Amino acid sequence: MANIGYIQVVRHCNHLCGFCSNPTSPYTHDFDSMKVLVDDFVERDYFGIILTGGEPTLHPELPKITRYARDCGLHVRMITNGHNLGNEGFAQEMADAGLQLAHVSVYSIRPDVEERLRGMKDTLGRAMSGIEAAHNAGIDININCVINAFNADHLHENIEYWLEHHPYIRHFVWNNLDPSMGRAEVNQDQYTPRLADFEHSLRRALTLLNDSGRTFRVEKVPLCYMADFAWASTETRKIVKLEERIVHFLDDKQTVRQTDWDHLYADVCAACSVREICGGLFNRGDGYDPAELYPLFMPLEPIVETILNDPGDPTTQFKNVTEWRAAFDAHNARRAADPDSVPEQGDALPGVGQVTDQGLRLYHSKRKSEGRRAEKRGVSMERPAVNED
Ligand code: SF4
Repeated sequence: MANIGYIQVVRHCNHLCGFCSNPTSPYTHDFDSMKVLVDDFVERDYFGIILTGGEPTLHPELPKITRYARDCGLHVRMITNGHNLGNEGFAQEMADAGLQLAHVSVYSIRPDVEERLRGMKDTLGRAMSGIEAAHNAGIDININCVINAFNADHLHENIEYWLEHHPYIRHFVWNNLDPSMGRAEVNQDQYTPRLADFEHSLRRALTLLNDSGRTFRVEKVPLCYMADFAWASTETRKIVKLEERIVHFLDDKQTVRQTDWDHLYADVCAACSVREICGGLFNRGDGYDPAELYPLFMPLEPIVETILNDPGDPTTQFKNVTEWRAAFDAHNARRAADPDSVPEQGDALPGVGQVTDQGLRLYHSKRKSEGRRAEKRGVSMERPAVNED
């Protein structure tokens, strides 16, 4: 199966997004502690890894761990704000180390909105330079976008821009804001959109992408808000393909192995024809309103068929809907019989990073400087990860 694992290589960042769900923590990684995690993914026969953060390009050994993972046969990607990719030679160094794909996060192609969301000036210009440099170095580019209250009305405008100015970008990823962690949790009122706020613009954006032959995924959006493109839902694809995801968080959560993809459902979901393959409402932070959900009355099989037959995703283990249905029902029966059961994890999971005196000093000084910047920008700081005395 084509599982992809995540390693947070750092947790500090050069930007200060008011909805960051993984802000600064006192944990740090060195090459050896990251290598253990890469080896574990290889052992589990994972297809690839995504290096993320914080801002992963701030880790001095990023090229080294990239090269190591690539030499182990993993497909290597990273999620970045693009800021440092524009530094002379860095994109080429990462390409030479084996980085194959950079997911560059850009929330809005309106400079003032991007600056407001990023908490610092000229972030859009820097990201554009980074995208060009990485593309010229031979790294594939995807665009990641967190849907939030400030960009909800112009998601399609962003796509019009990318299609016209960066036609080589072929894949786009949307994440609806996660209001349950970090700064997103304490700034929910400011940044969390209503589902209805982005419904129209998201549909226009996905239609534009689909019509232009681009591919895309949408995470944390219930299917009733993306019914025409239900096959592109990350949760739905994982539910259908019975996939798992391991994230090595560089904080007290450590390793999270996710095998269930359903979140919260409303009473109306019971009448919905796609309930079995819908992730529902991502509401861990109570940021969204279940009253916004409405049932769909459309056949489920064509959605499953599209996922199983996706030529760009040759990873499914099922040949057709009949075979899938048998495996899916058996899987659900096992879960119903023992709701607390977690599939075998194999060997004990390795520890993630370490808290050193130096890491703690860095954490405290980062918290102070970020607190000053946050105050100026009108956002609240996340709850401290350790005692700040
Ligand atoms: S009504 Fe519920 S089950 Fe149906 S698409 Fe919406 S969230 Fe999913």
